[in-house]
Amino acid sequence: MEDLPSALRDFGLTVSILPEKGRCLVSTRDFYPGEVIISQEPYVCVPNNSLVNSRCDGCFVSRNLKKCSACQVAWYCGSSCQKLDWKLHRLECQLLCRLDEERRKFVTPSIRLMVKLYIRRKLQNEKVIPTTATDNHSLVEALVAHMSDIDEKQLVLYAQMANLVNLILQWPETSIKEIAENFSKLACNAHTICDSELRPLGTGLYPVVSIINHSCLPNAVLVFEGRLAVVRAVHHILKGAEVSISYIETAGSTVTRQKALREQYHFTCRCPRCIKVWQYDDIQESAFLEGYSCKDDECDGFLLRDSDDKGFICQKCGRTRNKEDVKKLASEVKAMSASSGYNQGAISVYKKFENLQRKLFHPFSICLMQTREKLLQLSMNLEDWREALAYCKLTIPVYQRLYPGFHPLLGLQYYTCGKLEWLLGNTEDAIKSLTMAVDILRITHGTNTAFIKDLLMKLEEARAEASDKLLPDDAIVVS
Ligand SMILES: [Zn+2]
Ligand SMILES: [Zn+2]
Ligand SMILES: [Zn+2]
Ligand SMILES: [Zn+2]
Repeated sequence: MEDLPSALRDFGLTVSILPEKGRCLVSTRDFYPGEVIISQEPYVCVPNNSLVNSRCDGCFVSRNLKKCSACQVAWYCGSSCQKLDWKLHRLECQLLCRLDEERRKFVTPSIRLMVKLYIRRKLQNEKVIPTTATDNHSLVEALVAHMSDIDEKQLVLYAQMANLVNLILQWPETSIKEIAENFSKLACNAHTICDSELRPLGTGLYPVVSIINHSCLPNAVLVFEGRLAVVRAVHHILKGAEVSISYIETAGSTVTRQKALREQYHFTCRCPRCIKVWQYDDIQESAFLEGYSCKDDECDGFLLRDSDDKGFICQKCGRTRNKEDVKKLASEVKAMSASSGYNQGAISVYKKFENLQRKLFHPFSICLMQTREKLLQLSMNLEDWREALAYCKLTIPVYQRLYPGFHPLLGLQYYTCGKLEWLLGNTEDAIKSLTMAVDILRITHGTNTAFIKDLLMKLEEARAEASDKLLPDDAIVVS
């Protein structure tokens, strides 16, 4: 079997070890925006199935599914997906069938992913499934588990889950301790598989992609084509530079991002954005993203706490917001977010919530943006395109600030905006928004997927419609 270094050499990549972050993926040639750096099929994967929502185990679609008649756990869209998965599922199915019905209810996607991991290792050991340099269990063994960083509660949970996996497998050679450690490995290394619009579909383990480290200012992006993981450059990556992707939602102040990374991935990020923590630029950015608005509605300045901690001073116009007033509004916001209408997703409550948040937070605030995002979704569900477009447009400046350059979320937001403008007959605006979407998404998503082809076709149709509108009435030739 070819080894990993020579397999990676063909991609223009190598694995280096850095003392402060361990393994990392380094380029051995230049990569340009939009270029695929590496793509990989999952070692194991599982759809996020629940009682109400199922997806095909093979391709993750949710239409025309049939349940595996034996185990009643796996779903397939047709015989080709079922056949492709059969070598693995045959064994999984037997194991699940042995389980009594009561226990089978506890077989969550995470439990299945672990069972599949053990089955795949067994089948590769027995040479039933072939191994390659980028598809073998030693790559899984090389992943970090961070067991010493996990708190007691989480350890107990992993032990309970490991118990169930052990009960399913009933293999004398597996130990509960090792299974629990593997759960910790999956928590730090598995990826959420999303569709082209970044909606989560399932979870997969991609051991080579897992070598890529995190940056809050990444030079590459991870997207999925079905269950294939594809890493594309979003910046010009020079030969010898480390390839990075983002593990978390990068919208957040440095303190918020670092907290998320420590809690889920157990490391302190030292990326170019994070090393600026507590510098003036970083404090200013936090005040925009998570801080309060100026007392003067017309002013877009950001606020900082004054030295005697009595209030917040606008750094643009100098007005002060009283600490008690801010506190009162903040508690009203908190109370409303706990109300039943909010939790049931009532649009009227969200509108009131947005009104209230606007009085408290800076216009670039992430909280406000999230509420408007929710209102956009709710208006779309109600097919109120005009209102949906209004909310979409309010989020765009925030998206531009949060996700500069080639970021899929910014591209997708332009796409939504363009579709709404077109529905409302604003063809000229739609062309502008769809063009912005294409400029970004062709880099992050490539140009070959059905999703991008659909977007390009919409843009062409909008352009054709616009040029038809430009023709004067008498230019229409009646044949
Ligand atoms: Zn399928
Ligand atoms: Zn089955
Ligand atoms: Zn960072
Ligand atoms: Zn001001």
